[in-house]
Amino acid sequence: MTRTATAAVLREYGTPLRPEQVLIPELRDDEVLVRIHGVGICHTDLTAAAGGVPLPVPAVLGHEGAGVVVETGSAVTRLAVGDPVVLGFDSCRSCRNCARGRYAYCTHFAALNYGGRRADGSTVLQDTSGAAVHGNWFGQSSFSSLVVATERNAVRLPADVPVALAGPLGCGLATGAGTVLEVLRPESGSSIVVFGLGAVGMAAIMAARIAGCDTIIGVDPNPRRHELARTLGAGEVLSPADHDDLGRHLRRLTGGGADHAVESVGTEAVIRQALSSLAGPGVCATLGLRAGRNPVTIDQTHLLSGRTLTGVIEGDVDPQQFLPRLADLWREGRFPVDALVRTFDFVKLDDAFAAVAAGEVVKAVLTFDHDN
Ligand SMILES: [Zn+2]
Ligand SMILES: [Zn+2]
Repeated sequence: MTRTATAAVLREYGTPLRPEQVLIPELRDDEVLVRIHGVGICHTDLTAAAGGVPLPVPAVLGHEGAGVVVETGSAVTRLAVGDPVVLGFDSCRSCRNCARGRYAYCTHFAALNYGGRRADGSTVLQDTSGAAVHGNWFGQSSFSSLVVATERNAVRLPADVPVALAGPLGCGLATGAGTVLEVLRPESGSSIVVFGLGAVGMAAIMAARIAGCDTIIGVDPNPRRHELARTLGAGEVLSPADHDDLGRHLRRLTGGGADHAVESVGTEAVIRQALSSLAGPGVCATLGLRAGRNPVTIDQTHLLSGRTLTGVIEGDVDPQQFLPRLADLWREGRFPVDALVRTFDFVKLDDAFAAVAAGEVVKAVLTFDHDN
């Protein structure tokens, strides 16, 4: 049965997303249809809308969706109609890297998450004239009231988690928390500096507290972010402009340099600040995505004392394992997702995007009214 959904469609790069009716024909055997209750806006959506990612248009963006399963394909066994789910990125779960549990580095990652099509080349969506609309953005394209995902990337949530707010677990929050808990794995009592206090950075701060870091420092030029970062676990929060030599100041605050740094901005200046804050040995994870090539000059002498710069996609997590763990931490009050979120009705899409672009919200979530 063909279903009709309301989706925000990107017709041309650099133009606003516009709500349209889209058609969803029959599900494939491994697919699930999810009624979206809430979807977060991630900076990668903005990058793609501006044309910074090779996603073909017309397309539906959105990759922090959460909702309830309303239909399942015939081969789906792990999920049932009525299950609350959060949608993670897609991975083939069979290639060399997936077989080693490194799903974020799936050798088919680009095709499955940025290609706008299913693995077999077909598109999941049509506009009302019958023309193809690209979907499958991060295995979901969830700026839409109904979404086709698969059993691979739909993750069941505990029933008592507020599903409309849970979508950001699937990308931004898993990225920050996964980088700390799964990649850096800080020892209890160690120090960490987090650069950039958006949702990714805030998740890294919450995760650092969960890991038992003694010294947690946030860095962000936006003073409106500072108080929240303190509430979530940062002992100190700095504005970079207040310090002539930020790296030296951070080394002093951490007693000789930080054991770990998380960098969620992606500019050369911030990556270099993060590296200069490190002790030796020390590890800096860079997470911020910038469109196109992004060369950074690094002093090799600085790395020789055991310092590492590593890049991380999607927190290097297995969404099927890690997202339920974050949901449990949320229920325990240790990972308060709701403290980061401001909700906007889906029809207020433009307001939400403007608030994200202006840095007025840590995490905007578009919500759907399904009473109709
Ligand atoms: Zn794979
Ligand atoms: Zn994202």
